[in-house]
Amino acid sequence: MGTINVATNLQHVRDRVAAAERQANRAPGSVHLLAVSKTKPATLIREAWAAGQQAFGENYAQEAEEKVRALTDLAIQWHFIGPVQSNKTRGLANTMAWIHSVDRHKIAQRLSEQRHAELPPLNICLQVKLSDEATKFGVSPGELPALAAEVDGLANLRLRGLMAIPAASSEVTKQRAAFAQLRLLFEGLRENHPSLDTLSMGMSGDLEAAIAEGSNLVRVGTDVFGAR
Ligand SMILES: *Cc1c(COP(=O)(O)O)cnc(C)c1O
Repeated sequence: MGTINVATNLQHVRDRVAAAERQANRAPGSVHLLAVSKTKPATLIREAWAAGQQAFGENYAQEAEEKVRALTDLAIQWHFIGPVQSNKTRGLANTMAWIHSVDRHKIAQRLSEQRHAELPPLNICLQVKLSDEATKFGVSPGELPALAAEVDGLANLRLRGLMAIPAASSEVTKQRAAFAQLRLLFEGLRENHPSLDTLSMGMSGDLEAAIAEGSNLVRVGTDVFGAR
C-alpha cells in the first residue's frame, strides 16, 4: 500500500456524495460526511482536519478516548459508532458528541446518568438490526418504538435518529432494499418523535445506494483513510 493522501481521498468522497445528492434530487450539502478513523493514527486525523473535515467516528472506546486526548487542540466533533459496553459508558458519555450505536435501555440510561449536566445533551442514534443482518448488535424493528420512547425520556440524551450496518452486498438493488427498510422505520418513528432528523447509513462501498434511499449521514472509513 502506498502513501495515503487523505486530502485527495476526502475530495473524492465529497465528489461522490455530491454526485449522489444530484442523482437523487437531494439538496446539495444535505448529506453529512463522518470520517471513520478507527485504527488510524491521530496524524491522519490532523491531515483530514486540515482538509476541512470536522466530524470523526471511532469504534473502540479506549482508542477513541486516547485520540480525543491527543487532539484536544482541535474542535473535533466526535462520534462513537461501535458497540457500547456498559463498563465503557462513562468515558464515552463525556467525550463524544454523538453515539450511533445505542441498542438497549441499560446503555442509554448509563450514558444519560454519566453525561455531565453542564455539557449539551448527548446526541443518540439507535442502531437497528435489519432482517438480513448477521451482526448480533442492534435493536429489532419490533422493539424499536419502546426503546425510542425510553431514550426520549432521558434527561441528558437527545434522540436524533437511526443507524444500521446492512449485510455487505455488491448488488445495488440489495443495498437499496436494506436502506429502504431503515428509512421506513425512521419515517414511522418520526410520527411520534418529530425531533428525529438523522438517518445514519452508508459506508465506503454503498454510500450512493444509501443516499438514494434518504441517508443524511454517511460513515466513510476506507475511502478516506485507506484499507485497515
Ligand atoms: C468501520 C465502520 C464504518 C466505515 O466503513 P468503511 O467500509 O471503511 O467505509 C462505518 N460504520 C461503522 C459502524 C463501522 O464500524
